[in-house]
Amino acid sequence: MPKVTEHVYYIPGQDEFMPDSHVYVVGNPSSQNLSLIDAGLTRKGSYKIQSIQKAGIELSAIKRIIMTHTHLDHIGCLAEISKQIPWAELWAHPLEADLLEQGDERAVYGMDMFRGLCQSQFGLKPGAFKFQVNRKLQGGETLDLGGTVWEVIHIPGHSMGSIGLYHRSMKILIPGDVVYADYAIGRFDLYGAKASQLKESLMRLGELEVDILLPGHNRIVKGLPKGYILKTAGQWESYLT
Ligand SMILES: [Zn+2]
Ligand SMILES: [Zn+2]
Repeated sequence: MPKVTEHVYYIPGQDEFMPDSHVYVVGNPSSQNLSLIDAGLTRKGSYKIQSIQKAGIELSAIKRIIMTHTHLDHIGCLAEISKQIPWAELWAHPLEADLLEQGDERAVYGMDMFRGLCQSQFGLKPGAFKFQVNRKLQGGETLDLGGTVWEVIHIPGHSMGSIGLYHRSMKILIPGDVVYADYAIGRFDLYGAKASQLKESLMRLGELEVDILLPGHNRIVKGLPKGYILKTAGQWESYLT
């Protein structure tokens, strides 16, 4: 499990025929108060747990899982991970948390065709993604996660309850699937997505000073060029109306 920077570790997604999201482990290990950001794709739970253990982190130190959003490639192995760390809380934005609590899986699968494909591929039954959410993050909160301070930003558009986490003094942004390296952005054709909201979210993130970009997929970037997110938004502008 590579270290990104002080108190931020990184479990790279293990993509096969479907993407598996990256998982970030946030907090000072000595605090015994660590957070996982996202879980990953179905059947990737033991890979995540093993990566944490190999890094010498005790599972008892993990206190919560914070979802940037609830697409299958981020939440698919949540139940597998929760089985190993049943004490860990689940935190998510209310717009997707409420769906999870009702067992409404539209945001998880994003589209009907994908639901059928995944259910047959993974043997998932309807109702596999019903979870109780312990804390609902609206955006605007400041979280102390194991001695590291993060601001929660609601950035809908890729999904309605997407949130980003921003560490202001270290200039670290965890944007989920809203913006990636190489001028890529999240798709905006799935359930609950909206192009115009994605544009607004990109503009909002563009106001932040970001040095380290830790997206849900593909490469992470240290030394992000100044103005990168606004430039990315500009390149996509004609699609985001
Ligand atoms: Zn997504
Ligand atoms: Zn994703």
